[in-house]
Amino acid sequence: MTILDEVLSKNESFVETFEGEELSHHPQKKLAILTCMDCRLVDFLEPALGLKRWDAKIIRNAGNSIVGEDVIRSIAVALYGLGAEEVMVVGHTQCGMAHVDIKALKSKMIESGISEDDISKYDLSEWIGGFESEEENVIDVCEKIKNHPLIPDVPIHGLIIDIVTGKLKILVNGY
Ligand SMILES: [Zn+2]
Repeated sequence: MTILDEVLSKNESFVETFEGEELSHHPQKKLAILTCMDCRLVDFLEPALGLKRWDAKIIRNAGNSIVGEDVIRSIAVALYGLGAEEVMVVGHTQCGMAHVDIKALKSKMIESGISEDDISKYDLSEWIGGFESEEENVIDVCEKIKNHPLIPDVPIHGLIIDIVTGKLKILVNGY
């Protein structure tokens, strides 16, 4: 069974028992969260923060980082169009984006058939957006959001979650 077959079969059983409900776009806790795509945060971040379906807009990417404008775009939409009033950046310990090995990543690209010429068009370390410290990254990202010209004056909080215990530590109190 491929993963796609497995997902489709799980979905069939899900739909059979789920009654279905219509909800609005607006997060009940008026919150937008930027966090990491780490698989260990699946079904972990939300319960650890006491969040249920419909409570928050959640933006996930590699390392809860800001590279380019896409995260800012999503936060802006959440704030101006979808009823969010506060932003939380939630990093985690043992993040795969800390100490990323750019050389190893580049070799993998070449092994996968990507041409050196195409790779050379990117400043890989900037494009990948790795960092040395998970905590410093959260603080930097909060600053980037706060200082962006299109982001209004709203509370921007920075936290880090322990990926083993689920314990949260506050790094930036946006109030
Ligand atoms: Zn991570």
